Amino acid sequence: MRDTNKEFCSIILMVALLNALSINTLKGNDLINSYDIYLEINPKNQSITAELSLELNQSNLDNDTLLFFLHKELSIISIEPNHDLSFNFLKEEECPYFYMRNARPLKIILKQTNKTKAIIHIKYQGLLKDIAWGTTNMLTNNWIELGNYSAWFPYNPEYGNFSYSIQLVIEDRYNVSGMGKIKKRDGKWEIIQDYPVNDIVIMASRELKSINYLDEQYQIRIDYILAKDEKAKELIEDAKFILQLYNDWFFSKKEKYTIVFVPPFPDRGSYFRKGFIAMLQPVPGLESDITTFKLLAHEFAHDWWSGANTNNWEDWLNESFAEYSCLMAIREKYGNEIFNDWINYKTYSSKFAEPVIGHMDNKRTSYSTRYDKGPLALYHLEILLGKEKFIGVLKKINERKITTTDELLNELEKLTSQKDRKLFEDELRR
Ligand SMILES: [Zn+2]
Repeated sequence: MRDTNKEFCSIILMVALLNALSINTLKGNDLINSYDIYLEINPKNQSITAELSLELNQSNLDNDTLLFFLHKELSIISIEPNHDLSFNFLKEEECPYFYMRNARPLKIILKQTNKTKAIIHIKYQGLLKDIAWGTTNMLTNNWIELGNYSAWFPYNPEYGNFSYSIQLVIEDRYNVSGMGKIKKRDGKWEIIQDYPVNDIVIMASRELKSINYLDEQYQIRIDYILAKDEKAKELIEDAKFILQLYNDWFFSKKEKYTIVFVPPFPDRGSYFRKGFIAMLQPVPGLESDITTFKLLAHEFAHDWWSGANTNNWEDWLNESFAEYSCLMAIREKYGNEIFNDWINYKTYSSKFAEPVIGHMDNKRTSYSTRYDKGPLALYHLEILLGKEKFIGVLKKINERKITTTDELLNELEKLTSQKDRKLFEDELRR
């Protein structure tokens, strides 16, 4: 079995390259309070029309220029109030973010920066045919999936978290899913995201079905197209099992989740957002319980492992930790033998992978380093410390919201010893 996540698995597009483009950096606070969006999606023409009101936390601005990224095929109709600002959509410039290659910088220069709150109205429209992540985001007749990968809305991964509300208009036969609470009223879809997140994902299809699960701790909704109804129900059982483990091991959360079983287009991945998982549909015939379980356990683990930079080698803190958590969940459900098969597989497949750290300074490492070699290092750390102590370390790292390898190693040294830190660090550098 192969983890189909490849490059894009995870994530959060958090904090990023130290680049000249980041005009406004965060002072530890979120820059955008909310997006209020009226959106029309036209699947036949592969186009969208949007009117968006963006509420800024202007007190978190440290200069007068806002920088967003928006898909290059879109055209700005207006940005207002125009006596308070000017703008420039730089279609010739590149986007520095790995996951948003077809986005272009949209600079908005504010004339007054002394207000605490400001609302900017942006109207734009255009095609969304050429989406950077091939089939992970798309706008077609059969399947619509729009999130920050497609840069369908003005977005900067460095501007923190926000809430949103959307009025969505789409041809009647489509069912809509995505992040947030979704309902249909008078022919329009209303989507409300009432806690802060860092993406807006909308999905739609004429064939989308839905089941819901609710108990005292969890609220889980599964949306699916091709999967059999029984498979969707099994997914709920798996979800409960996995969440229970992670809540025990790491720290406990009460959550609502929407899981969408996305169609198996080639070259696409699964991804996690707060309260939301887009999960790749298994290939018929090759699907086994464990394939789905592993994918789900990996994506859920990102609810605990997702704060590190995804644009360079530090991404191992997201991916290797999520992958090893998922192997631990496999051990609980399927036993030691299957777990060891995975360890052996990863031992073999990572033989030629570059080190987890110390490789090409700021570059991203290979798939095998992040998904095989990093998890193996964690496995060896577990053997060194013993399971109980190892889980205690994971819990602490979570509590401290550690997002860099330096912080991780320092914390490990505090919790264990200088010797253990060195052993682990040596393995990461090998
Ligand atoms: Zn991942």
